[in-house]
Amino acid sequence: AQRLKGCLPDGAVTARFGGDEFVILLPAHYKNEQTAATCVQNIARQVNQLVSAPVQIGRHLIHCTTSIGLTIFPQSKDTSSQILRRADTALYRTKAEGRNGFRFFDVSMQRLAQSRWQLEEGLHQAIHRGELELWFQPQVTKEGVMSGAEVLLRWRHPTRGLISPLEFISVAEESGQIAAIEEWVLDETMRLIKHWDSMGLPETFRHVSINISPSHFMQSGFVSQVEGALERHTVANVNIELEITENLLIENFEQAIKTMKALQAKGIAFSIDDFGTGYSSLRYLSQLPLNVLKIDRSFVAPIDHESDETPIIDVIMLMAKKLGLEVIAEGVETQAQRTLLTERGCRLYQGYFFSKPLHHEEFYTLLKQ
Ligand code: C2E
Ligand code: CA
Ligand code: CA
Ligand code: CA
Repeated sequence: AQRLKGCLPDGAVTARFGGDEFVILLPAHYKNEQTAATCVQNIARQVNQLVSAPVQIGRHLIHCTTSIGLTIFPQSKDTSSQILRRADTALYRTKAEGRNGFRFFDVSMQRLAQSRWQLEEGLHQAIHRGELELWFQPQVTKEGVMSGAEVLLRWRHPTRGLISPLEFISVAEESGQIAAIEEWVLDETMRLIKHWDSMGLPETFRHVSINISPSHFMQSGFVSQVEGALERHTVANVNIELEITENLLIENFEQAIKTMKALQAKGIAFSIDDFGTGYSSLRYLSQLPLNVLKIDRSFVAPIDHESDETPIIDVIMLMAKKLGLEVIAEGVETQAQRTLLTERGCRLYQGYFFSKPLHHEEFYTLLKQ
């Protein structure tokens, strides 16, 4: 904040707003958009000079840029938190549009922002009110046997109905709620499996995979959280597999490998989700205690319409063979896709062709058939 002060015009006030964010209050004579814009461009230029040299952190070279969100006030009956929220919304938009710039808050952002805030606030209550639900999607072998399932979260919102994780997971990540939510997912999944086991599970059903968000996975308490859930509800015959993404692994290689090894010792398996969409390297992958590569749906989807050339799938199969890993294809929707995947050596599939994700009660009924 001290260094930032040197970049500000007379009469401006600044304060750190947590992490790498600062709030700047400009005096009233900047209340016209044009003067305010000129003023922040000036500030941004000076700040960028301050932070212009890239910083080396481990293997990475970090380049800093300045993103700014602006709002002009007072407008009638605004509270300071409303004003801050508007600036934050504009900042969020600047970042979404490629960073290193500024945006004024405008009412078109308001509706989008409002629905995000409502989601964020609603999520705080969702766990306690029992609005989160676990759905399961079968994973099927070449022989047509259900050998496992992936847990997919759903939010049964009191007024909006069922909300997709695509809509609320990112909100949960940005608002810092993802760890609490996924801790519930871990515990509840294992509790359910134990319950099913007590009522009878087919012997061919061997594993359940759970999605873990990168920010949660990298938290220091993660290992003990998983251990806690395992201790509460251990099931001998069903393995727990965690799905993580390759970018997470490569960006935090040392810590990721530590976390994975600690959990592997407790019997946890790991699969790489959306494989092929990130940047992977055989050298990194070979050092990690992995079990499964999950071929992303985007490589399976084109199979029907185009030729039977599947260069990426072929490469993934080859990598998996070299690394001694299992492969599962996701998003399998047609017989043609399944046949071609089988021809390429893939032995596990997940997708609408076999079953959509099902509410856990419906899933257990299917499993028992
Ligand atoms: P994902 O991990 O890639 O999960 C697969 C998604 O593809 C699921 O969407 C599933 O319903 C959908 N899908 C499955 N088979 C097919 C198919 O044949 N065709 C098509 N078009 N789609 C198919 P869903 O349930 O909406 O989940 C979306 C994403 O939300 C998931 O993508 C996952 O990344 C995330 N997610 C779900 N639950 C959790 C969670 O507990 N934690 C975290 N971090 N993410 C979660
Ligand atoms: Ca997944
Ligand atoms: Ca996936
Ligand atoms: Ca995906």
